[in-house]
Amino acid sequence: MSVDIECVVVGAGVVGLAVAREMARAGHEVLLIEAAEAIGMGISSRNSEVIHAGIYYPPGSLKAQLCVEGRRRLYDYCESHGVATRRLGKLIVATDQAQVGGLETLLERGLMNGVDDLRLLDKEQAQALEPALSCVAALYSPSTGIVDSHALMLALLGDAEAAGANIAFHTPLLGARVITGGFMLELGGTAQMTLSCRLLINAAGLQAPALARRIEGLERQSVPEDFLCKGNYFSLAGRAPFRHLVYPAPEAAGLGIHMTLDLAGQARFGPDTEWVKVEDYRVDPARAEAFYPAIRNYWPGLPDQSLQPAYSGIRPKICAPGEPARDFVISSEAEHRVPGLINLLGIESPGLTSCLAIASRVRHQIENA
Ligand SMILES: Cc1cc2nc3c(=O)[nH]c(=O)nc-3n(C[C@H](O)[C@H](O)[C@H](O)COP(=O)(O)OP(=O)(O)OC[C@H]3O[C@@H](n4cnc5c(N)ncnc54)[C@H](O)[C@@H]3O)c2cc1C
Repeated sequence: MSVDIECVVVGAGVVGLAVAREMARAGHEVLLIEAAEAIGMGISSRNSEVIHAGIYYPPGSLKAQLCVEGRRRLYDYCESHGVATRRLGKLIVATDQAQVGGLETLLERGLMNGVDDLRLLDKEQAQALEPALSCVAALYSPSTGIVDSHALMLALLGDAEAAGANIAFHTPLLGARVITGGFMLELGGTAQMTLSCRLLINAAGLQAPALARRIEGLERQSVPEDFLCKGNYFSLAGRAPFRHLVYPAPEAAGLGIHMTLDLAGQARFGPDTEWVKVEDYRVDPARAEAFYPAIRNYWPGLPDQSLQPAYSGIRPKICAPGEPARDFVISSEAEHRVPGLINLLGIESPGLTSCLAIASRVRHQIENA
């Protein structure tokens, strides 16, 4: 059987849901297909749930633009849709004098990105906010917060469906072929059918690059090589030591082992960085050994034996270990010359924060192609 749909969005993580919502609200006929049995079974349920301010990313990059725009939109959206957020604020800490220059660089970068509420604090000011903190200086970001990511995804789904989008679970896209005026899709799972569409938006998270490579008619050079970088979290038994989110100076592949809080006030530490070859979400308890000294740099009071393996997530990297971080890739006709196709590649952090801004960028690229 073959059916015609205007727009197919692949993947019901926070990005695919936001894109489906955006396209449906703009009047497009949308089918969202998801391989798993429910929304948010991928990266979107395995992250820190932090609404980032937009400090770290190179000025002018998509990450910088979409994070700053996405953060503003996300707070408004959550407020109007009853999705819980808390603007806890964040401290990025220098634990020795050599790291202070790094904080100043982050401050400048943040300002260039439009994050206009950052403040450099000296040790006393930082400790007035967080008495248990050990540091020589800190960069304070009041607009960083946390969000209930599952409630956010449910709200996006509700909006998308209210605007006429349909969602099909247990429906993996197995492969696609470029045809005149669109695509022929081969659906597996419970659907087991072919489907034609005019617009195809690949928001398949970790699988997005592999899926793009399975699109016959798309040049392979337009799809970067992909890598998996796991991040493990450990939860803290007992009361949280801080009321703000606390981050060390950033590292090469991640933001360093930081402390975030969930909406119930429970503290967790992570994610670390572990380059892996397969998707395996088990957390090796032995990795806690590296967490204790890293955390004690900024919280010397961390008790022995207080960290418990919690969960892990995998960053969809499009740069190899040791290579500089890459920007989000929103690859459209202008790059790959296939009309109607958008591949969303390397949507790692701050993808959750940026989801609404990514969705509007995607629609813009499609409608202005
Ligand atoms: C450790 C970690 C911490 C992070 N922390 C933060 C943070 O604090 N703040 C922030 O802003 N961002 C954070 N991020 C980034 C954020 O989580 C991601 O950018 C975002 O969740 C990506 O969403 P997605 O929809 O692209 O991918 P996913 O949520 O993975 O969704 C992709 C979906 O596609 C489906 N799929 C795959 N292949 C197919 C197929 N062939 N057919 C149909 N469906 C398919 C999958 O089942 C999945 O449901 C973090 C990421 C990680 C890994």
